[in-house]
Amino acid sequence: MKTYGILIDGKWQPSSSGKTFDSINPSSEKSIGKFQQGNEKDVDRAVAAAKKAYESWRLMPPTERADILLEAALILQRDKTHYGELVSIEMGKQLKEGLSDVQEAIDTFKYFHGEGRRMFGHTTTSELQNKAAYTIRIPIGVCGLITPWNFPVAIPSWKLGPALVCGNTVVFKPSSDTPLNAIELVKVLEKAGIPKGVINLVTGPGSTVGKRLVEHPDVRMISFTGSKATGEWITKNAGVKKIGLELGSKNPIIVMDDANLDLAVEGTVWAAFGTTGQRCTAASRVIVHKKIQKAFEKKLVAAAQKLKIGNALTHEIGPLVNKRAQDKVQNYVDIGKKQKAKLLCGGKRGHGLFYPPTIFTEVTPKMTIAQEEIFGPVTAIMPVNNLTEAIKVANSVDYGLSSSIFTQDINNAMTAIRDLDFGITYINSSTIGSEVHLPFGGTKGTGNGTREAGWAGVEEFSENKTVYIDYSGKLQKAQMKDSGPRKK
Ligand code: NAD
Repeated sequence: MKTYGILIDGKWQPSSSGKTFDSINPSSEKSIGKFQQGNEKDVDRAVAAAKKAYESWRLMPPTERADILLEAALILQRDKTHYGELVSIEMGKQLKEGLSDVQEAIDTFKYFHGEGRRMFGHTTTSELQNKAAYTIRIPIGVCGLITPWNFPVAIPSWKLGPALVCGNTVVFKPSSDTPLNAIELVKVLEKAGIPKGVINLVTGPGSTVGKRLVEHPDVRMISFTGSKATGEWITKNAGVKKIGLELGSKNPIIVMDDANLDLAVEGTVWAAFGTTGQRCTAASRVIVHKKIQKAFEKKLVAAAQKLKIGNALTHEIGPLVNKRAQDKVQNYVDIGKKQKAKLLCGGKRGHGLFYPPTIFTEVTPKMTIAQEEIFGPVTAIMPVNNLTEAIKVANSVDYGLSSSIFTQDINNAMTAIRDLDFGITYINSSTIGSEVHLPFGGTKGTGNGTREAGWAGVEEFSENKTVYIDYSGKLQKAQMKDSGPRKK
């Protein structure tokens, strides 16, 4: 069994803890390698290395930093099958999705390669004569990147791409469920030419490695994707530093009585059961017009029951990520039954870490399964009478990441775009499928208003600097000119 190191100042090495943990393939429940159980001391050394590397990295022209990202994209592209299989093996999503996880990183690195030649500021006027005023983007410093396991390549790339092109150095702490994918991605960036100390990677528990990173005074920014509970803890404990939060959600699909029903069913199957429901954009609520409820339910159950469950490399629906996740899903299903939601299919754990697509109906907005993130292949059909009620139900949760409506009526669609309180709204498509050149993030409990990806990624991982250049040869003072009383 191979043992992997942590990366500090360009050197892969053991943790000073002397301890390791295993990463498990959830399809077979067998270990795929041993990883360092990092500790606070490792984080301190990693932050010091990142701080030192920052001095020269920030001065490298952004176009040159960007070229490294392009090279990394090309390496991933060349060996996409290898990296995609690794996603499926360690995380448990079907191979097609494992490959698309890697494709997302390829696209992201290519996009941020382009940002090396953009990274626009604003040029504006000055209120004073012979004075120029404009803004530039400057790096933030050492950034702590903390990621979950469900997109083990794509999510790290969303952070690494903009962080690096903007001139920051990083300490990256991946989820302990998917350390191998994180290490392989960082090795790709090393191969592409990242100088030592610019990326440091420390594996290990959130409660030690993550916590120290969040609290470290030399870390200027924390970019976090994960659960709301951890996001709240970070908000309370990070001190004065920039924080980017991408948290959970409870995403709805609305199906109107005028919808193309087959399309809505296909979109719901993909959003509710793709990635075994383990997406922050998964649709765990389907708000259905009563007029088509019965027809929709019949088609949805039939489609869900056709899905092939088994080893992620060869089936459509892979396992849940670990036993804790499976217990959590089962617990929510049991609560759903107790609260008198009507079970249409699934509802009982399978062998190993598998769980069948599960559909409840007659779910009302106050039920626990209509409010809390389940993060498994469970969806709740919620019948409504009209669009106004549908939007009210959709908005009746603490989260606000992704939303969707199936309708043929432009008035319904435009009203939904205006009134759904979510960071993303799809028309006639499922709640999943974001593209890397557009901002991604949510309202309410899903985050703190930051957005990742696209141009928003540059905004997130850089600061504005405002520049004034006075070429008048005298000390001009803003707001000091007496404009006198207003003339009538
Ligand atoms: P999690 O919060 O348990 O863990 C996320 C990361 O935080 C892990 O690396 C973990 O080790 C670390 N961590 C835990 N405690 C910490 C602490 N005190 N300080 C610092 N770091 C700590 O989440 P998870 O189970 O890995 O991921 C699933 C969650 O992520 C779901 O809620 C899902 O919706 C969310 N998610 C959100 C998005 C998005 O973009 N909005 C994308 C994917 C996943």
